[in-house]
Amino acid sequence: MFTNFKIDKMENESISAPPSPLETIKEKSNYLRGTITESLNNPLTGALYEQDQVLIKFHGTYQQQDRDLDDERKRQKLEPLYSFLIRVRVPAGITTPAQWLALDELADKYADRTLKLTTRQAFQFHGVLKRKLKTTIQEINKTLLDTIAACGDVNRNVMSSANPYESPVHAEVAEDAKRISAHLTPQTAAYHEIWLDGKLVEGGEKEEEPLYGKTYLPRKFKTAIAIPPRNDTDVLSNDLGFIAITENGQLLGYNVTVGGGMAYTFGNTATYPRVADVMGYIPKERIVETSEAVLVFQRDHGNRSDRKNARLKYTIDRLGHDFFHSELARTHNIRLEAAKPYEFDSMGDKFGWSQSADGLWHCTIFVEGGKLADRFGYPAKTAIREVAKIHTGSFILTGNQNLVIAQVPQEMKPKIANILKKHNVTDNNLSQLRKNSIACAALPLCGLAFAEAERYLPSLVDKIDTVLEANNLQNEPITIRMTGCPNGCGRPFLAEIGLVGRTPGKYNLYLGASFTGERLNKLYKEILSEEEIIAALTPILEDFAQNRVRDERFGNFVIRKGYVKSVEEGKKFHE
Ligand code: SF4
Repeated sequence: MFTNFKIDKMENESISAPPSPLETIKEKSNYLRGTITESLNNPLTGALYEQDQVLIKFHGTYQQQDRDLDDERKRQKLEPLYSFLIRVRVPAGITTPAQWLALDELADKYADRTLKLTTRQAFQFHGVLKRKLKTTIQEINKTLLDTIAACGDVNRNVMSSANPYESPVHAEVAEDAKRISAHLTPQTAAYHEIWLDGKLVEGGEKEEEPLYGKTYLPRKFKTAIAIPPRNDTDVLSNDLGFIAITENGQLLGYNVTVGGGMAYTFGNTATYPRVADVMGYIPKERIVETSEAVLVFQRDHGNRSDRKNARLKYTIDRLGHDFFHSELARTHNIRLEAAKPYEFDSMGDKFGWSQSADGLWHCTIFVEGGKLADRFGYPAKTAIREVAKIHTGSFILTGNQNLVIAQVPQEMKPKIANILKKHNVTDNNLSQLRKNSIACAALPLCGLAFAEAERYLPSLVDKIDTVLEANNLQNEPITIRMTGCPNGCGRPFLAEIGLVGRTPGKYNLYLGASFTGERLNKLYKEILSEEEIIAALTPILEDFAQNRVRDERFGNFVIRKGYVKSVEEGKKFHE
C-alpha cells in the first residue's frame, strides 16, 4: 500500500441521493461472502439467491439462463435453464501450454465445450451448471489461474499490448500489467473460503480490504496498457490507461489516460460512451502507485447512488480535471507531468508469423468472435489443443479476441504450422473486414442482449464482404464490431462500423470512429434489419471506393463526406 488514509467514510458531497441497493448488498456481504455457500448448496433451484447473484460477480462468475429455451421450459412449467459464465483472469493475457490444456479439458467436462477469448484478454466458460460451479473454479485455481475480480465493482483483468516477447519494452510493459493486477486484486479471504474450502493457495490472505473497503468501487474499473503505434488494447476505452513512452528501445514512462468507457443506455442521454482523456505523464516507476491513486479517486468520488452514472468517466466529467489532479497530489503526492507525444496507427492484430530479435517465432491466429469451438470444417479448439501438446512457449490472448502462439523455436515452427493447416486454421481466405471484427457473446446466454452478436456477425460480414469485393475494397481494413446491447463489451463505439442490437434481428448502425481507437463513432441509422444494414452501407462503400483520398480510412471518410458528424467528446455523443 502506498497510503494510509482512512476509507471508512466515503462522502461524496456532490451526490445527495441515497446509495443504491447494491451498495447495501456489498456493505452487508461481509467482504463478498453473503450467502453464496447456502445458495450453492440449495438443491431446489439451479439459481442463486438474488443478492448472491450480485456478489458472485466479484468472484468471477455471472448467473445466466438459456434464453433460447425459455418458452419451452415455461410450457413445461420448469424454471429457466440457469447456468453460469465463468471468467478466468489472465493478466496481460499470458498462459502456458499446460494451463491451456487444463482449461480446454474443463470446457469439455463442465461447460459448453467451447472457450471464449474475451476482448479483455481473459477466458470465458459458458453454460456451467450450479452443481459444477465450485468444482470448475477449484480446477481453474489448480492451473494457477483464478477468477476473483474478473467481474464486479473492482479492477478487472489488466490488459497489455499483445505479445510480451516482441521486444524488451513489450516484456517490461506486460510485467507492469501483472504488477498492477496483483496490487489491485481484492484481499478478501471469502474467495478461498467459498471455492477452495478455505485452503489458501499462495501465502495466505488477509481478512480486510485495505484498498477497497467494505463497499468496493461504485462500478467496474478497467485498466489497460498500450504500446504505440499499436492500440491493440483499445486503451482509451478503459477507466484507466497507460500509453508506453519509449526512446531508443527503452521504456521511459507512461502517459496516463482516464475516463474511458463504452456503455450507454438506450433513451438515457445522461449516459454515453467516452474516450479517455490523456491527463499527463509519469515515469515508469510510478505506474502501480498511480493505478492505486486513480482507483482511490474513483472509490471516493464515484457516484454510488446511480449505477448508470457511476463509472469513472462520469466522475471525471462531473468533477473536472483540476480536481482530479489535486486529489492525486493530495492522496498520493502524484503530480503528472505534461503528456509526451505518441501516435497510434491501428487497433487490430498483425496476423501470421513474425520473428523477434531473439530468433523465436510468434504466430497470431484469427479467432472469429473469440470463440474456440470445433465446428464442421474448422476444428479450431482441437487445433490449438494439438499445438498445446507440443508447444514449449506460451499462448497470448489478444484484446481483439485472437490468439498468439508465442515463443516458437525455429525447429518447432513447421510442426505447428502443419497442425494449423491440417485443421484449417489459417487466415488465407479471410477478408480484412473479418480480421478486424469483434462480437460480444450476446444471445442466448447474456440476459442483457436485445439481439444476436457472436452467432450472427460472421454471416453479416459475408454479405458486407460481397459489397466490398464488388467495389474492389476487399483488402481494405475496416473495423466492424457488433454487440447485443449498448453495454459495449465488444467496444462497438470505437469501430468504423458499429452495430448494436435494438430488438431481435435489428441493429443501430454507428459510423465514423477512427481506425486507431481515438474517436467515437456516431449513430447513423436506427433499428435496421439485415437488408436495411446492407442497403445503408452499400452506397457509402461505393462512394468510399470512388472518392476517398489517398490512404483515407473509412471512419474519416464518412465524416469528411458528411454522413455523420465527428464526435469530439463523449458528452456530445447524442447531439
Ligand atoms: Fe451482453 Fe450487452 Fe455485453 Fe453483449 S454487450 S455481452 S449483449 S451485456
